[in-house]
Amino acid sequence: MGIRRLEDFNTVFRLKSIWLIFKESGSLWVAWLKRHIFKRKGLWGTKPSPKHSWGIRKLLMFKHKAADFLHCRLGDGNTALFWHDNWTGLGPLIKYVGVEGPKLLRIPLYAKVKAASKGLEWNLPGARSDRIQVALTRISAIPVPSSESGKDCFEWKATATEYRDTFSSSATWKLIRQQAPVVPWHSMIWFSLSTPRLSFIQWLVLLHRLPTRDRLARWGLLDNPMCVLCQLAPESHSHLFFDCCYSRDVWIPFASACFQSPPLDVDQCSSWLAAQPQARSSTRKSFAKLILQVAIYLIWSERNARIFKGESSPAEKTRLTLDRFARDIILSRKSSTSAHPWSLMDDWLLVTSTIQIL
Ligand SMILES: [Zn+2]
Repeated sequence: MGIRRLEDFNTVFRLKSIWLIFKESGSLWVAWLKRHIFKRKGLWGTKPSPKHSWGIRKLLMFKHKAADFLHCRLGDGNTALFWHDNWTGLGPLIKYVGVEGPKLLRIPLYAKVKAASKGLEWNLPGARSDRIQVALTRISAIPVPSSESGKDCFEWKATATEYRDTFSSSATWKLIRQQAPVVPWHSMIWFSLSTPRLSFIQWLVLLHRLPTRDRLARWGLLDNPMCVLCQLAPESHSHLFFDCCYSRDVWIPFASACFQSPPLDVDQCSSWLAAQPQARSSTRKSFAKLILQVAIYLIWSERNARIFKGESSPAEKTRLTLDRFARDIILSRKSSTSAHPWSLMDDWLLVTSTIQIL
């Protein structure tokens, strides 16, 4: 416990040093670091090297942690780095979009945010991937940099949801030690059969953060908001999960094999599962969560394949994929969670035996 506290203390100290780099641009120490250590790449692009002193190496090793605490309120866009500073709320865009980002958006790796604007408009090419679409949606909601907005202003996390332009050691200490708050749908996303890649998409769905066509149309990035799966209604989170007839054809047969009356609204799934009797149903609950996670992933992938590749599959084929996907996940848990993967597989076959997949 004592060692843990000492480690936390050290972390707060290093984080404060990093904060000073952003706030005390007039200090000799910061000027020296920028001139002799960071040079053109800045703090984010500089890697620890044996040539650096011990203190500088430590500082550089903590910069990734600092990225979770720093936020930039955009002003003239002449200080914030487009790819490395967190000015969109998505964290550093180079991490969010990936290393292909600078090429796809034609913004150099160490460009300032200002480089992404032209006059009173953002000047960025169209989306070439899902993540870029999310980033563009965010950016379109941020005022374009202008000298009238003053300089870019860096802020430090004070609580889980608030940033301030001062550093508080005690608030940072608390945030380092504090566990993330448990949200009601936490157990829907993280459970014994969950997969990180699928959990991530499901998390975005539950926060209503996917770049659905209704949102893109609202931001002026798209003219036609209609759902590409059914063409019958505008595409929104509640339509896709699971008001849409295509989505329903994928979700309902599997979900109702687990429990009666599955909801057609993804936000209701957590209370639907909580209402099921506990006795005998824990395996079924895991299956229902697995089905929900895989169904969301496959429906979103199908929607993207139609938009970005012009390829489409009927609902029957997606049901078949869901079944195969779920079996693969169940079998892959062999060495980790379950001592009897085959009995879990037997349960899956039993539960899904009544479903007409094709
Ligand atoms: Zn639809």
